[in-house]
Amino acid sequence: MNLILLGAPGAGKGTQAAILAKELSIPTISTGNILRAAVASGSELGKQAKACMESGALVSDEIIIGIIRDRLAEPDCAKGYILDGVPRTIGQAEAMEENGIKFDYVVSMEVSDETIMERMGGRRVCPKCGATYHVVAVPPKRDGICDECGSELITRKDDAPETVKSRLAVYHKETEPLKEFYRSRGVLVPVEDQGSVEATSAAILKLLKE
Ligand code: AMP
Repeated sequence: MNLILLGAPGAGKGTQAAILAKELSIPTISTGNILRAAVASGSELGKQAKACMESGALVSDEIIIGIIRDRLAEPDCAKGYILDGVPRTIGQAEAMEENGIKFDYVVSMEVSDETIMERMGGRRVCPKCGATYHVVAVPPKRDGICDECGSELITRKDDAPETVKSRLAVYHKETEPLKEFYRSRGVLVPVEDQGSVEATSAAILKLLKE
């Protein structure tokens, strides 16, 4: 099964991707996590992406397509994968089609901007393995420590309220048109936020099985 999780920053894509990946036994590919790891390692890719990421702007389609092409060629993607945070522009979606990359479902996670602004302050992430938490909705077992790898959790710099506002504006302008793109291909599955992580994953899984 090849899936895309589409949605605004903070819609819960990373959290749901982790649950769905376990449920469906397929890997999650998050371009945001790949880019953050590149920035942390100081690689050439990281140097190119850093400024865009800090300001909440998008990294170029060319860079993203290179990352996705390499990652999807790895053996663990042979049985399917979940894309989290990519594609984010019509250009990226078209490039994937040109490369023969097809999707069974594109799950569009519908959450209002107001809810996102409220939620973002509580998001914590693991800088090492990319796991995502929320101080109230998805707390780690030990305060401030990643359940998966034991690293100390951090607040992402781009989760500051002003940056979230610009990321939402970028989302509405560049990414939201993808809903129509995939609706016209018959693969769009809109899912309303259900108010809790568990209820939202149950709703997604139910729709995927229909
Ligand atoms: P995310 O973790 O998905 O919120 O991504 C964090 C940041 O990485 C974004 O604000 C962008 O700067 C960059 N990024 C991640 N994925 C993409 C993508 N598919 N296209 C362009 N930029 C991206």
